[in-house]
Amino acid sequence: MDTTVRVRFAPSPTGFLHIGGARTALFNWLYARHTGGCFILRIEDTDLARNTREAVDVILDGLRWLGLDWDEGPATSDPAGPSKGDRGPYFQSMRSSVYARRVQELLSKGYAYEHEGAIKFKMQREPVTINDLIVGEVKRELTDREAEDPDFVIVRSDGQPVFHFSNVVDDLEMGVTHVIRGEDHLSNTAKHIVMFRAFGVEPPKYAHIPLILNPDGTKMSKRDKGALLSVYQEQGYAPEAVVNYLCLLGWSPKDNREIIPLEEIVARFDLPQIVRHNARFDMAKLLWMSGEYFRLMSNDRFYELATEALTKSGLNVQSFPDSYVRAAIETCKGKLKTLSELPVYAGFYFTDEVTYDPEAAARLFTPQNIGRLAGLREAFAGLASFTAPELESRLKTMAAQLGVKPSELVHPLRLACTGKTIGPSLYHLIEILGRDRVLARLDRALAWAESRSK
Ligand code: GLU
Repeated sequence: MDTTVRVRFAPSPTGFLHIGGARTALFNWLYARHTGGCFILRIEDTDLARNTREAVDVILDGLRWLGLDWDEGPATSDPAGPSKGDRGPYFQSMRSSVYARRVQELLSKGYAYEHEGAIKFKMQREPVTINDLIVGEVKRELTDREAEDPDFVIVRSDGQPVFHFSNVVDDLEMGVTHVIRGEDHLSNTAKHIVMFRAFGVEPPKYAHIPLILNPDGTKMSKRDKGALLSVYQEQGYAPEAVVNYLCLLGWSPKDNREIIPLEEIVARFDLPQIVRHNARFDMAKLLWMSGEYFRLMSNDRFYELATEALTKSGLNVQSFPDSYVRAAIETCKGKLKTLSELPVYAGFYFTDEVTYDPEAAARLFTPQNIGRLAGLREAFAGLASFTAPELESRLKTMAAQLGVKPSELVHPLRLACTGKTIGPSLYHLIEILGRDRVLARLDRALAWAESRSK
């Protein structure tokens, strides 16, 4: 018998990817990678009214951003299609012949019958026991309403297969061994198990993951703050941090570590360790983790993410030499929690049109400070080597000569070079900007002050 693990993420294209859905995808992916099994992506798009390319792309973009690659699916004939040349995913909307064949099978076996143009499944009357890998043993009896008529529609009168049916048929056809999904589906599982048996097949193992709650303990819905994965994509969180955080939302490595490399999670992840209680979502923790990941990641990875974010913000990063861009971006590493902060933090490297923070300019560009900046300009112009240590010692010498603290010079200098009062390490950013740019920016600040004094 083939014991290879086969799991799937089976989202319906609703137009968004909920953080809970992303976690379900992640747990399936982790289990597949941990066991050397197969991770299938199946788009459950039988609701044709809601089935748009955009809604599918939200899911695919989200999974790609998280790095959750899927393993199989039909080859796509449309090169611009939603899977952009990858294999798969499977689309239920393209599998109607499979469902038609399986309906016939149930009809001929006497497990289904026609009723007012629709097809209904003959549900078992006795209680169904579910041995869930996470929730434990659950005995499901018919509800009072079901007791009146336990049978349920599997194909509507317009010919559309219903969720329960296409979901089970595909899990069966695709050889799914473990169904890992949100606990909101536990109530459907008795129906699914009985349908599997009607096909003469043992059902897969089930693992229902507890829900994600808001910090106040209420159930997280798509309207809640931070509930959609797209929020983190748009704000430029480190995707590795989101993956790490989602792992901890319901899975516990049993020590109190929080930053855990993905390879280690893959090696250790297993279904019995998924915690049974609902997990509370903590946005502040995720934000912290994002900052930690940016600090800890390789310079190359940070460069890749940062250049993409800067370019998206409209800065023409490509027009600068690569060594300049790399050096500039390295001064921002470890200073940010999200990439959305980057254009403001580091934009001055990539444009000569530095605009001064008005409050800071009024406070720092005083006649006295402008006089000192003019002195610094001459001192910097005459430096033999334009490097951070030289710049620092020259500034300190000048501060000593003037009998002031270095900070008296540092703040106006930073404002003249960057337009801001905070940013990367000052002497390093000045070294990277280089003598020509820095002298030009000091000249600009002097001219600006001159024009104001008239
Ligand atoms: N299409 C269902 C959903 O998005 C899938 C349920 C399952 O994983 O079986 O909730």
